[in-house]
Amino acid sequence: MKDYKSIIDQYEIDVYPKRDVVFVKGKGARLWDDKGKEYVDMASGISVANVGHANDKVVAAISKQASTLITCANTFYNDAKAIFLEKLFSIVPANLKRAFITNSGTEAIEAAIKFARAVTKKTKFVSAMKGFHGRTYGALSATYKKEYRELFEPLVPGFSFVPYNNFEKLKEAVDDDTAGIILEIVQGEGGINIGQKEYFQKVRELCNEKNILLIIDEIQTGFCRTGKMFAIEHIGIEADMMTLAKSIAGGFPMGVLLCSDKIQIERGKHGSTFGGNPLACAAGIASIDFMLENKLWEEAESKGKYFREKLEKYTLSKVREIRQIGLMIGIELKDKSQPIIVELLEKGVVTLPAGTTVLRLLPPLVISYEELDTAIEKLVEVLR
Ligand SMILES: *Cc1c(COP(=O)(O)O)cnc(C)c1O
Repeated sequence: MKDYKSIIDQYEIDVYPKRDVVFVKGKGARLWDDKGKEYVDMASGISVANVGHANDKVVAAISKQASTLITCANTFYNDAKAIFLEKLFSIVPANLKRAFITNSGTEAIEAAIKFARAVTKKTKFVSAMKGFHGRTYGALSATYKKEYRELFEPLVPGFSFVPYNNFEKLKEAVDDDTAGIILEIVQGEGGINIGQKEYFQKVRELCNEKNILLIIDEIQTGFCRTGKMFAIEHIGIEADMMTLAKSIAGGFPMGVLLCSDKIQIERGKHGSTFGGNPLACAAGIASIDFMLENKLWEEAESKGKYFREKLEKYTLSKVREIRQIGLMIGIELKDKSQPIIVELLEKGVVTLPAGTTVLRLLPPLVISYEELDTAIEKLVEVLR
């Protein structure tokens, strides 16, 4: 057997802190490594595999589209994109009328920043401390974490940060040159911090008053993860722009920026070679169909509740707090999460960090109750 690890260690730029495992196969909420060991996946590749690994519907759609038409420039019309857009706009909030399709989350944020400046003729943005919006220059400028930013400065000018869920601080931070406010409804990378309804309602009013565009980043929270198709449905406000990616196409790379009627951009001012290619669109159609047919938001809601209630029955000395909304779960530990994540991996449970002390759980929404029980059993063993 090839030594896959040393090949990757030799050739790939070493930006990812790696775990000592080589995954070769996935199905539903299970993963297998190169030695045949089976794992319960409580990460979904960071909330990507919401419909499960190798989802049959997605696999069939990609295979069929691959043998029909893989690529098509965006200057031509194609059938897969039309069907995808029609499907997407049947599930997104009704005030969002048009889409710019990308290949990733950060590109969707990038488009939002460009469009906000173009539409408002203003330059500044405010986002939240602990927020994460991506790694390209615009998105990174809206991302809080110093370790991600400092090596690459100077970033895009005009960005500032305020404490999350604190309306007064936000109000103080905006001025007449503020083009947009960029926020997650639940902060994912930041540690599963859940946004307050009244906060977001006030933010919406402030944006109306000051002619600021409200950009909601649902890249991690979108597509049933929090117990609703989109997390913004918990709040009941309208976004001017909303970014989607991660789980949109069953694991196939894709992102979308959704825009309200306020956003009008001239032809030729923005674009993407691969964005909205037929293969991604076919995967997206299948993935959304699967979510609708299986009411995946209900699965996330009831499984999240089950998981939390069951875990809370145990006395877990290493746990400070459990934050949960749907199947988006943050377990705040009293100490570093890293050793716990390594121990869980050895026990066959794949988990994620969020910051240094939060254990983040984002299982595929198709996970079975038996698989959740296995994860709980192992978690209790290591967190007692
Ligand atoms: C992952 C993520 C992004 C960036 O998406 P990429 O596809 O990695 O570029 C942006 N915002 C949020 C909330 C995310 O979770």
